[in-house]
Amino acid sequence: MRLLRRLDVVLIPVMTLVAAIAGTGLYFWQLDEHKALEQDKWVTKVENALSAGDFERNGIEALGHEIAGSAQFINHIQDTNDFARRSFLESHINYVLKQDRVAQLGSVDIYSLDSLFTLTATSIKADPFAQSVLSDDIYQTVFDTYILVSLGEEFCNSGYTYQALTGEIRYSFIGAYDPKLLPDDKQAMTRKERSLLVVDGPLTQLNHLFAEIADYAHITLEFHQRSNETPVQANIYSKQINNEFFDGTVVKVFGPSIEIELDISDGHYSAIKAQLATQMLTYMTGVVLSLLLIIHLIVKSKVLKPINGLLRDIKKGGLELRYFKRAKGNDEVSTLKNAYIDSLSKVKFEAEFDSLTKLANRVSFIRFVEQRSESYCNQHTYIVAWDVIDFRRVNDLHGQKIGDKALVTIATEIERFICMNQSGSGCGCSDYSISRYSSNTFYALINAESELSIRALMANFETALKAAARIDGVPLGLEFAQSIFPLYDETHRGLWQRGTEAALNKAKQIKNKRPLVYFDTRLLEEINRREEIEKILLTCCSNGDFELLYMPLIDANTYKIASVEVLVRCPPLQAMGIGPEEFIPAAERANMIGDIDTWVMDNALKTLHYLQRKVGYDGDISINISALELYNNEFIELICGACNKHEVSHDKVILEITETSYVKSTKDTIAIISGLRDLGFRVSLDDFGTGFTSINQLLSYPVDELKVDKSFVERIGTEGSEERMLNSIISLGHNCDAKVVGEGVETGYQCRYLTELGCDYLQGYWFSKPLTYHEFSDFYNEDHLVDIKTKISELTIIRP
Ligand code: C2E
Ligand code: CA
Ligand code: CA
Repeated sequence: MRLLRRLDVVLIPVMTLVAAIAGTGLYFWQLDEHKALEQDKWVTKVENALSAGDFERNGIEALGHEIAGSAQFINHIQDTNDFARRSFLESHINYVLKQDRVAQLGSVDIYSLDSLFTLTATSIKADPFAQSVLSDDIYQTVFDTYILVSLGEEFCNSGYTYQALTGEIRYSFIGAYDPKLLPDDKQAMTRKERSLLVVDGPLTQLNHLFAEIADYAHITLEFHQRSNETPVQANIYSKQINNEFFDGTVVKVFGPSIEIELDISDGHYSAIKAQLATQMLTYMTGVVLSLLLIIHLIVKSKVLKPINGLLRDIKKGGLELRYFKRAKGNDEVSTLKNAYIDSLSKVKFEAEFDSLTKLANRVSFIRFVEQRSESYCNQHTYIVAWDVIDFRRVNDLHGQKIGDKALVTIATEIERFICMNQSGSGCGCSDYSISRYSSNTFYALINAESELSIRALMANFETALKAAARIDGVPLGLEFAQSIFPLYDETHRGLWQRGTEAALNKAKQIKNKRPLVYFDTRLLEEINRREEIEKILLTCCSNGDFELLYMPLIDANTYKIASVEVLVRCPPLQAMGIGPEEFIPAAERANMIGDIDTWVMDNALKTLHYLQRKVGYDGDISINISALELYNNEFIELICGACNKHEVSHDKVILEITETSYVKSTKDTIAIISGLRDLGFRVSLDDFGTGFTSINQLLSYPVDELKVDKSFVERIGTEGSEERMLNSIISLGHNCDAKVVGEGVETGYQCRYLTELGCDYLQGYWFSKPLTYHEFSDFYNEDHLVDIKTKISELTIIRP
């Protein structure tokens, strides 16, 4: 509707303007038409009246000739004083006037005048004894004729039209007659003593017209004698329109000797003007409204309706493609809809699917599983998952491209496996039922009859998957951790994500056995325990509720304390028997390790400062930091800040980093290690030898110290190969210009053994357990050196 309203804002003024212009034009055109018609009507009337006047004039003239030719008239003019003759003439005249053909000429007056201009007979003498007079209206003309005649000018008869004082238009016929001569004698026209006959009658039609016009306030007729200079042929009436003089039209209609001026002032049209204006206003309003209605209907049906339909679809469907049906038309809205569907499909695909394997991504898989769980979940639905163990190796060894190819092969194989096993189960293979859940883990939803059958299926598939994971025919030798989560089991359905993750992690730890874990309550307990740890850690992090213990590192040559390793404890967790071995990885997973490391650094350096000042400690301090700090760009700033704060020189600090498979040696991590070393810190690789990436890392990271993992030390004296292995690690460290620390020394035998292999430093319970600050101060103050030396001297190198 907003579109229509906007359209109206433009349309209404524009259409009103156009309608106003058109209406005005039409109004004037109509008015002109009407004026022309009206004028024609009146001109025609005038012309008709004039032409009727011609007949009337002829009638009057004929009457004149008739009377002039009558014996009574001739007799009379021969002796005008003869009363009898005059009576005869007057009777004759009255007789003639009463005749129908003459009566219709109207009130005709007839006068006879003698050669002395004395009225001798007349038709208008009401009283026979009264002196009859010539009408004032014609007196002058008749007198002029008399003068003309008395001067002996050539004259026989003549007629003229005039307007009487009463306003009446009349015609007078004047004839001059010699009683002794015939009228066609040349002498008869020039003789001076002649009698005059005047026949004077009205021009009835013209007078009717004048009477009619009188009813019209704005129309006037004016009578004019025509000047002789503009002769007009008889029966031709010309007209001339002249607007100059007044607000209206002037039309002159010419008769043979007269001119009738027809004036129509504009006031005459006021009624029609009002009527036309109302008409135009009504028409134009009607036209504008109809056009608006039509435009509204067209816009509504052709534009708004389809757009609203599309909007409804979009509202209802949102990002759900199934709500959209492609439009068939090729109009703009259909094209728009199809373009929307296309881009939606693309966006949806990109948002929901993994671009490499074309499998559902983590988000859409989670949504799919949630929907499935809510709608229906039959008794046999499982979530199965695969983790490609140490997939990084493929990338490292063969490059990213081969790695990608391998992932695609694995995805295709999993897809085939799931679809093959779903076809018979009535639980179709949906686009979302298989997912690349993270870079090298794949999750899928599958139906199977029982735990036994799903286990068997997965076991068989693992073999097939391993065999399929080859590039260009060369097997990649991949291992897959697998897990099964029974989704149908309502008791822990909500835990499927963490359950599957935990089961996969568990599977990854399995050695020498098929790495397949079926989620069970034990795992659930583990998850709960982890949750509990995370919860406690969260409070401890915000309260700084940690403690530090100190464990010395002994110089293998001098037996002096070379450094002290700081070990963190979390008292609430300690009470539950949970030490850093468990809570540090938990903190790393829960993103809390940064806080812990910061707390430890701060407190460790503070302690070192105390130790230096209070007990004259001159050794180093070894601080454990999470390898994740190598991704933290602010770490260098943090440790430098702590050193400054506690006035500790950088060369007193050894940073122990435990190698983990998830810390890749990237440009950035190497840059942080180099940066730390450039600033004078020493870097130590902790638990060296436990992961196969050790050597890789040693080559990538230039370090100052290697700490041989205690599992190697533990086995001293139990296996024959240990000696060689330890020997290799120690020489490797020395070759890389690193000091070697043997940790976990619990016996004198191990101490002597490592010393003889050339270990630089030793650490373990045999020297000291982790101590509190005071215990360590005491240990340092007491003559520990003598103590240790005594211990060593008592040693006999015999296998335990
Ligand atoms: P680690 O860095 O290898 O620390 C040495 C661990 O071995 C310590 O356990 C120590 O008590 C134990 N140990 C040393 N000598 C012997 C021995 O002779 N026999 C036996 N059985 N154990 C010995 P702890 O304190 O439980 O620490 C476990 C792990 O937790 C550490 O291994 C380290 O990776 C991590 N950790 C401890 N403190 C911190 C810390 O402040 N920050 C970080 N990020 N990690 C820490
Ligand atoms: Ca350590
Ligand atoms: Ca260690």
